[in-house]
Amino acid sequence: MCGIVGYIGNRRAYDILIQGLHRLEYRGYDSSGVAMISETGELNIYKSKGKVEALERYAVDKDLGGNIGIAHTRWATHGEPNDINAHPHYSQSGRIALVHNGTIENYSVLKEALIQQGYKFVSQTDTEVAVQLIEYIMTTNNCSLFDAVKEAAKRIVGAYAIAVVDRENPGQIIAARQSSPLVIGVGEGEYFLASDATPIIEYTNKVVYLNDGEIAVINRDEELKVYHINGADQSKIEITELQMSIEQLEKGGYPHFMLKEIFEQPRTLADCISGRITADGKSIVLAGVTDHKERFLNAGRIIIVACGTSWHAALIGKHLFEDFCRIPVAVEYASEFRYSNPVVTDKDVLIALSQSGETADTLAALELAKSKGAFVFGICNVIGSSIPRATHSGCYIHVGPEIGVASTKAFTGQVTVLAMMALLIGQMKGTVDAETLETVANDIRRVPTLIKEIFKLNDKIEDLAKIFTYAHNFLYLGRGYNFPSALEGALKLKEISYIHAEGYPAAEMKHGTIALIDNDMPSVVIAIKDHVYDKTVNNIQQVKARGGKVVAIVTEGDTVVKEMADYVIEVPQISECLTPLLTAIPLQLLAYYIAVNKGRNVDQPRNLAKSVTVE
Ligand code: GLU
Repeated sequence: MCGIVGYIGNRRAYDILIQGLHRLEYRGYDSSGVAMISETGELNIYKSKGKVEALERYAVDKDLGGNIGIAHTRWATHGEPNDINAHPHYSQSGRIALVHNGTIENYSVLKEALIQQGYKFVSQTDTEVAVQLIEYIMTTNNCSLFDAVKEAAKRIVGAYAIAVVDRENPGQIIAARQSSPLVIGVGEGEYFLASDATPIIEYTNKVVYLNDGEIAVINRDEELKVYHINGADQSKIEITELQMSIEQLEKGGYPHFMLKEIFEQPRTLADCISGRITADGKSIVLAGVTDHKERFLNAGRIIIVACGTSWHAALIGKHLFEDFCRIPVAVEYASEFRYSNPVVTDKDVLIALSQSGETADTLAALELAKSKGAFVFGICNVIGSSIPRATHSGCYIHVGPEIGVASTKAFTGQVTVLAMMALLIGQMKGTVDAETLETVANDIRRVPTLIKEIFKLNDKIEDLAKIFTYAHNFLYLGRGYNFPSALEGALKLKEISYIHAEGYPAAEMKHGTIALIDNDMPSVVIAIKDHVYDKTVNNIQQVKARGGKVVAIVTEGDTVVKEMADYVIEVPQISECLTPLLTAIPLQLLAYYIAVNKGRNVDQPRNLAKSVTVE
């Protein structure tokens, strides 16, 4: 997690660094800090616990001069979130400053060795080891900062993106990456550095994505140089043009990014679908799939690895692939899969699902499957991120930057891509007939309009949220395609309102969870008209019989559930396999309004960060 920013050029670095930290704050907000080399050659570090605002208040009367600097917003892994553990960290002599995203696994061994050499540590972070090690190598080998970083990189085990400045060389930033993202923006006579492209886009659309094992030498007024830690020669630099726009990174009049992103879904899904369903609605166009047709046709199994909300989308993917392609699907938590002893063969297709494309566990899981010969396919949102670059092929969801920590539009984008993939593979395999494909493909096209219909219920859902704001526990129930929707609805509520909520298969509830039901524990039941509708109706009866309150999400025109539930929210009729795309909307809104009523920081819930680039 965490965000890194860097700048070298002719402007005041502080302004660019602070603006960049605001853009990256969604990645972590335990503390933030900046380091600048001033015109008089001072290496000034200012840092503060909490949000970037706190840092700005703290720095207001300080020397903020200098046109080179690095900055950091932290999501703590080693050492509590406080001023001392905040980055940047100084080296012992105060000559070098460093920011780091990731975790250094062998930090205690390195620390011990440095203590033996007389180094003193002030923080509890793993990061401080890196800066001390670099200084130690520099002084003992009498070498350049670049050589010292290169040598240190060989000794460090773990994940890192680092940026380093040296007071004695105010014209240079050295940056390196291993498993954590780093992007360099190439401007006119200036360079920008960041964990993702969002702090860079307002200055330049030319970027270079660093690859694992690479070290960048960013010198003022010189061409960018990139080396590999194991090589003497420069790596080839590939400049990519960003497609993002600055408006996508603003709230656009909404009080929170999350609400903006919920309401963006008609457009983001239209973008996701665009060009992927032929005008006659008879075929799906996904080159990432058809270019590797044989791998999908010969797949003995599909394994989907993901974390969090993406894992819920993956569970919907399982239904889709099994229904349309008749291929067995295993859905795995990436963090479990990577440390298990999975049976993976070269007949398997592994799909890695991640909004950011940087999720550390998902990346490691796909590398593991790749090493065993599986064909690996990525479904991600952030273009040029690590997962798309590590996979054999893939498909972007194209929903634009998602800034709210609670995922909304990425979830519906993922489900939409999975649905299109399942139809296409099913068509190639002959397990889906032309009529079904056309019906479902046309329904996919209707989703943006139907979501707009659901938005008409916004006020009703806001009112409903008032009734349930003070509940301490919630149960979310669903079946089939909408069991994952129940899990996702519960997760949305938990992560932004801090209310305990459990998602459960509606019928499984009677094997234990039903004991929790009483007058104080509302159940949100997804009871749309699907092939298990009657069964779900029974499950609602079971809840009602025990005095539970029921909020039901039903298909438009439903009369049966309306009779028994306390409150109903109607969503339009659509192919069963696409119903999660519609039921997600009221669940997102309900969680949002409950969290707002509770006064929570919806976009930056406590303890969380958006892009989980640590294990
Ligand atoms: N491990 C470092 C720390 O705890 C960096 C964590 C991060 O990536 O934010 O300070």
